[in-house]
Amino acid sequence: MKSDMRDKLLADVEAYCQELRPIEELCYLEHRYNEATVSLAKKYNLLGMPVPIELGGRGADAVAYSRALARIGREGTGVRTFFSGQTSIGQYPILRYGNADQHKRYLPASCRGEKILAFGLTEPDAGSNPLEATSTYRRAGDKFLLNGVKYLISNGGIADAVVVFAYPEDPMGAERRMSAFIVDTAGDTFEAEDLHAKPGMFTANTGMFQMTDHPVPLENMLGEEGNGFRIAMGALVSGRLSVAAGCLGVIEDCLEETLSYARTRHQHGKPIGKHQLVQAHIAEIEMGRAGSDALVERAAEAKAASDAALGDKKLYAEADMAVAKAKFFASNAAWQAADHAVQVYGGRGWSELYRVGRHLQDVRVCRIYEGTDEIMKLKIASSLLGKDFAAFG
Ligand SMILES: Cc1cc2nc3c(=O)[nH]c(=O)nc-3n(C[C@H](O)[C@H](O)[C@H](O)COP(=O)(O)OP(=O)(O)OC[C@H]3O[C@@H](n4cnc5c(N)ncnc54)[C@H](O)[C@@H]3O)c2cc1C
Repeated sequence: MKSDMRDKLLADVEAYCQELRPIEELCYLEHRYNEATVSLAKKYNLLGMPVPIELGGRGADAVAYSRALARIGREGTGVRTFFSGQTSIGQYPILRYGNADQHKRYLPASCRGEKILAFGLTEPDAGSNPLEATSTYRRAGDKFLLNGVKYLISNGGIADAVVVFAYPEDPMGAERRMSAFIVDTAGDTFEAEDLHAKPGMFTANTGMFQMTDHPVPLENMLGEEGNGFRIAMGALVSGRLSVAAGCLGVIEDCLEETLSYARTRHQHGKPIGKHQLVQAHIAEIEMGRAGSDALVERAAEAKAASDAALGDKKLYAEADMAVAKAKFFASNAAWQAADHAVQVYGGRGWSELYRVGRHLQDVRVCRIYEGTDEIMKLKIASSLLGKDFAAFG
């Protein structure tokens, strides 16, 4: 990406974040979905940052997009999660694995905000192991009919189209391998529900949906039949990088808030920042920030190199591993940074009125979604030990 275009993108992201902040804070306190996340993103043309310009996006490479997501992450994990759903795991698999017709039908409209996207892999009984999914498809004339339930889906209650994964209904069909589909959510055969019982991310939509003989045109199969698992894994590399970048933003915001509070809050006759035990919290946050910054940047560079050489298995494997490390490290560092920040804020920290308390509530999920801590550790360890040591099949 040319530097002037990257600078313009990051300037637009900055303006977006500044305009969004007061609205986001109010919505958070009222525990309601923030519609301005989308409407302001439309205004600043941020709904398809890595989508090529000719398809309506901003043409950002993985490095520029990660920096944008880190800035957005400072506004809250809920805001950043919307972008992950719309772009990192929504638009990305369509761009990467879709054909020209699918690009034309979904990417420009999603960049304009006319189509909100989501990624539907997880089911009530299939999380860390998506191969245990039970959603199915069967062919009926000029369409597929999809059945099944997808659970805990970011943007799942607001999406116009979802990238969905399902097995052939026929036990012998396509060797019983998963396929991917772009599923339009219109119609009463697709029933979505918002999930409200969550201890954070109140301003973002998390949903579930049920498909009952839901019709999907044949031309909406994404990639080749039976290739769904590969597509899902490829999308998750993109999604994990977005989580890691967002967590870096959370740490940066915790640091800024903590420095400001430690300079101005007085106890025992001096600013609390002069107490050495408070300084220890600040040093811990900064170490997490510096480590996350380095790993996210390295992972983004590896992802950019892989995106620029599609089909290169070595570059893909390097990106996959660099992203897993960045995701694991940054999501844990962000959780710890929020905890340190809350401690420095004292009683005020344990409150939704302050940014650090909101980060603590929201960022915990980053150690769970897009691959849990445990799954990231297994990926990292087995890549070092060798394939024979993979902990699961
Ligand atoms: C807010 C939110 C948004 C989400 N958004 C999306 C989305 O947009 N799209 C989507 O498809 N999914 C989404 N998810 C789902 C998310 O990816 C899953 O929750 C996650 O992958 C874990 O699956 P699970 O919840 O079923 O837990 P499980 O897989 O049941 O895991 C439970 C525990 O067992 C551990 N475990 C499982 N297998 C192993 C193993 N082999 N070795 C060691 N430990 C193991 C896990 O690490 C975890 O600690 C979202 C989840 C949340 C909470």
